[in-house]
Amino acid sequence: MLDPKIETMERPELEALQLKRLQKTVRRLYNRVPFYKNAMDKMGVKPSDIKVLSDLAKLPFTTKTDFRDEYPYGLVAVPKDDIVRIHASSGTTGKPVVSCYTKKDLEMWGDCVARGLAACGVTPKDTLQVAFGYGLFTGGLGLHYGAQYLGATVIPTGAGNTQKQLMLMQDMDTSVLVCTPSYALIIAETAKAEGINLKKSNLRIGVFGAEPCSENMRDDIERKLGIRAYNIYGLTETLGPGVAVECTCRKGMHIWEDNFIPEIINPDTGEVLPPGEKGELVLTNISREAQSILRYRTHDITSLVYEKCECGRTHVRMDRVGGRTDDMIKVKGVNVFPSQIESILLSVKGVEPHYQIIVDRRDGFVCDDIEIHAEVSEAAFTDNMSNLIGIKNELVATLQSVLGIKATVKLVEPHSIKRSEGKSKRIIDRSELNK
Ligand code: ADP
Ligand code: ZN
Repeated sequence: MLDPKIETMERPELEALQLKRLQKTVRRLYNRVPFYKNAMDKMGVKPSDIKVLSDLAKLPFTTKTDFRDEYPYGLVAVPKDDIVRIHASSGTTGKPVVSCYTKKDLEMWGDCVARGLAACGVTPKDTLQVAFGYGLFTGGLGLHYGAQYLGATVIPTGAGNTQKQLMLMQDMDTSVLVCTPSYALIIAETAKAEGINLKKSNLRIGVFGAEPCSENMRDDIERKLGIRAYNIYGLTETLGPGVAVECTCRKGMHIWEDNFIPEIINPDTGEVLPPGEKGELVLTNISREAQSILRYRTHDITSLVYEKCECGRTHVRMDRVGGRTDDMIKVKGVNVFPSQIESILLSVKGVEPHYQIIVDRRDGFVCDDIEIHAEVSEAAFTDNMSNLIGIKNELVATLQSVLGIKATVKLVEPHSIKRSEGKSKRIIDRSELNK
């Protein structure tokens, strides 16, 4: 454990620390960020009203739209000269979401990531290949500095150039691979095509994040790479990767509560839900200087467990994120996330973890029909026709019985679905398909 004093702090003490930091943050924001002063005035709440942790619910939410409206520096609480780094999220339309950091913020971020790496068994003796994208995206540099903070060796390959990744991985004795689950699959596929057996290499741990990954998908990656894989979660708005990471118990991701206060809300009403219930994750920064965000609505659906973990850490654990509310589709009245479909696809032998969901949208996320394109393995593809029909029928039946949706399934040839070195796009509008 990197910081046992903080990571195993008894909850009353941890919560007292959170309250102190929250009060300080709210006072600073009220005095320095007009956006928050206006929002709090509108709700009739003053910094002095925050007396206990549950008073957090009196504070305004912050949304992605607020980031866009306040672009570029509207949410910043320090003089511009104190900013030493700026990241932005990959948003495809409009202005990007900007995240600013002071020197101290970068140290805090490095500490969060380093604690997380240590929690999943990475030591200063390890060599990490950081194959997340570098640049404005927080993934590459976030993991880079975290690994450096831990004292491990970093190979900053970035995403892409897979053959070179494989060469370096073998020559440099890489022991930890950091990337998106999608890219881990490309690496596995390329290794296989090149006749490289990574199970014989030094690679032992995968730290994967930035997009949803079902348990079945994780099993598949672990089998193909011969590693144990851990989940890392984060978002540009509140920091970047390292907000939460799995420990070796793999029973949820620890959120570093000395830096964040998580809440779960009902996404439709904004009401705070009791511990254990599933809903939208809302995060508040309580230790960031440049840009502390109050009650950020992540759109990510999860639930929280407050019981002490078997690893000894007391910090709350969040369940894996099945998807963002904006990725949810409603098929004839049934709400589904791509990761639920992924889980079913991978439960059927002969189906590979490469798929796309083609939707005909009616109104927002409501669709009349979905068509799932799923890749089959080479072995299944060269098998006889009746086996392929069997796979297809099994998929249709399982989707119907487990999720209650009626979907058209199309099995497609191996390697025919576009791979992604970053985050995969699972849902495709039919109108986009024909372009
Ligand atoms: P963008 O919004 O452009 O995708 P970010 O990197 O800030 O850029 O994305 C953060 C989002 O990525 C999170 O809100 C969440 O939806 C998703 N995400 C990050 N890590 C994970 C993870 N481990 N599991 C599932 N989803 C994740
Ligand atoms: Zn734990």
